[in-house]
Amino acid sequence: MPGKLYLVATPIGNLSDISKRCAEVLGAADFIAAEDTRVTLRLLNHLGLKKPLVSYYEHNQQHSGRQILSRLLGGESCALVTDAGTPVISDPGAGIVSECAAAGVEILAIPGPCAAIAGLILSGLPAGRFCFEGFLSMNKKSRREHLASLRGETRTMIFYEAPHKLLSTLKDLQESLGDRRVSISRELTKLHEQTLRLTLSQATEYFTAQPPRGEFVLVVEGAQPEPEQAPDGERALCLAREYMEQGLSAKDAARRAANETGAAKNSVYAALHEEAGEE
Ligand code: SAM
Repeated sequence: MPGKLYLVATPIGNLSDISKRCAEVLGAADFIAAEDTRVTLRLLNHLGLKKPLVSYYEHNQQHSGRQILSRLLGGESCALVTDAGTPVISDPGAGIVSECAAAGVEILAIPGPCAAIAGLILSGLPAGRFCFEGFLSMNKKSRREHLASLRGETRTMIFYEAPHKLLSTLKDLQESLGDRRVSISRELTKLHEQTLRLTLSQATEYFTAQPPRGEFVLVVEGAQPEPEQAPDGERALCLAREYMEQGLSAKDAARRAANETGAAKNSVYAALHEEAGEE
């Protein structure tokens, strides 16, 4: 019988955020797959645990993933952790999850801290519908394409950013999306935690005067939804009524309204006629 794969969220700064279940699962797993074994060792020391560690990070995912899967199929259980927060979210893990799913290995999430969700709930921006956009690419073309694809996005958008790229990202966001509201959370759960709720231009001004330090989550307001357009026929009929009030004949009013809205002239005329019959 295969063992289980546990996806274990770890603190994003404050070690008191370790849940009881997170500690229990780390203690009970046969081995731990970690993004950086040195970082995870500090966490295990804090918990007073000693466990065999294997490394599983972006550039050894395939090779290490095969070894982890073979141990799981052999009956061992594995806890997967990253340096901070929830595995898979802008972090390694998606590959091993899909391989385990395909091989029939049971996968369980041990939920906990995630900077994106903490930033979102602190933002004060609508959270009913949101999208996670991760890090913007450093490659100019894909960055431009990514930003262009977000222009009409009406959901609240969440980004991760490193301090040295924050200013250029704020400027690019403003250039592409306009001067929207943004909530910037830095150093969440840590000593210098701060959330600023500004506009993109105000944020650029702020961080020009005060160079950014620490880890950042940006939560950007979505685009305003387009006002709902009445169907062509309805708009044409309203216009035609107005033209008749201004003195045009029903025929001319229907023709003009149809030209302006793209509706069929005959149906506008017929609708006017029907209305006149009803009166
Ligand atoms: N998997 C992690 C999670 O669940 O949040 C995210 C990993 S990603 C490699 C690291 C990025 O998350 C950082 O560059 C920063 O944008 C964000 N982040 C992580 N910890 C943070 C914190 N304490 N405060 C603000 N942002 C944080």
